[in-house]
Amino acid sequence: MIPLPLDRSATLAAHEAHPGSRVELVCAACTWSRTYRPERIIEGLSRKQLGGRHTTVASVALLVRWPCPGCRRMRWATRLSAPAPDQATERPRSISRMAEKSLPPPPRRSNRA
Ligand SMILES: [Zn+2]
Repeated sequence: MIPLPLDRSATLAAHEAHPGSRVELVCAACTWSRTYRPERIIEGLSRKQLGGRHTTVASVALLVRWPCPGCRRMRWATRLSAPAPDQATERPRSISRMAEKSLPPPPRRSNRA
């Protein structure tokens, strides 16, 4: 994942401008990290009435109430990250391949009238 060049006032809604981006939870004390789908985070925040699309990406870290699985500390940071270029090209290709398989072959048309 590659962090997007957003400032700290960026909200979760910013992910809409960056298809495929993920909220990355990063431990500032060690290297542990995990990514989440922004839609899931927004859903969770609204369900608990803690926020939503307009919650800043950085403030999501303050809501994490569990210690880092790597070092047991709680020094969370959150940021919006995009998949590395090779990952980004990999996924659409496999999706289109799947779509090709599930779609019936195009009807043969003779255009010679
Ligand atoms: Zn850690």
